[in-house]
Amino acid sequence: MSDYLVKALGFNGQVRAYAVCSTDTVGEGQRRHGTWPTASAALGRTMTAGVMMGAMLKGDEKLTVKVEGGGPIGPILVDSNAKGEVRGYVTHPQVHFDLNEHGKLDVRRAVGTEGTLTVVKDIGMRDHFTGQVPIVSGELGDDFTYYFASSEQVPSSVGVGVLVNPDNSILAAGGFILQLLPGADEETISQLEARLKSIAPISKLIQQGLSPEEILEQLMGEGNVKVLEKMPIQFKCQCSKERIASALISLGSVEIEDIIKTDGEAEAQCHFCNEKYHFTKEELEELKLEAK
Ligand SMILES: [Zn+2]
Repeated sequence: MSDYLVKALGFNGQVRAYAVCSTDTVGEGQRRHGTWPTASAALGRTMTAGVMMGAMLKGDEKLTVKVEGGGPIGPILVDSNAKGEVRGYVTHPQVHFDLNEHGKLDVRRAVGTEGTLTVVKDIGMRDHFTGQVPIVSGELGDDFTYYFASSEQVPSSVGVGVLVNPDNSILAAGGFILQLLPGADEETISQLEARLKSIAPISKLIQQGLSPEEILEQLMGEGNVKVLEKMPIQFKCQCSKERIASALISLGSVEIEDIIKTDGEAEAQCHFCNEKYHFTKEELEELKLEAK
């Protein structure tokens, strides 16, 4: 199954729901960054939440999620947009710990619990919305839940999960976000709470081959889900040789001349996707002419 996301309504429009299978997308992130399992889970959970939050945007809007929990993996950065494109990295990808007391990857230990979760939305016209909350769990799902309640005043439940194969590749990844809309009644809330308590971990459901639609049915009950939209998602970076070239040009001709003299060439690597871009001496000479 290729990765995709569904947007839906539940309980006759009382609940807004998102569910996503992100196995290949998180897998691409794992391969590009060479993350070890605990770091893969932290990055994968953040990317999975990020791609669903991106799906809440419109048109050319985009957002950045930054998790700084003070733990050994360092800051996690994830960018996403309304087109199902997501990219991201962890500062220290080679982090892994023994499984925690629940037999799961110890994401909290890797992320840390002293710090902040920040969301910056670029909603066009140079308008930015920034929301920041303290890290309350470090397991990330609960941290996003807290973010929505505290920063956006939307009572939500966020589940994100990643399973890793023995060879460090990604076995399964996915997530959901359920949000109560104004007017949701007590009966709906208690039904949802009961279902959320009894449902298997989201990563297990993905591993069992459940589609995002089927996951929403498990969460809200069969016949209780109205799918509004289905959207493919993927790991996609916005970097290109042209963009790196403009960054070099902005350094100025003196700086470029310095690179030419010292190294004779330049190699730049994109943080988000690890792609390397090489510039020969001749190319640098051309950039120098364009620079001030
Ligand atoms: Zn890139």
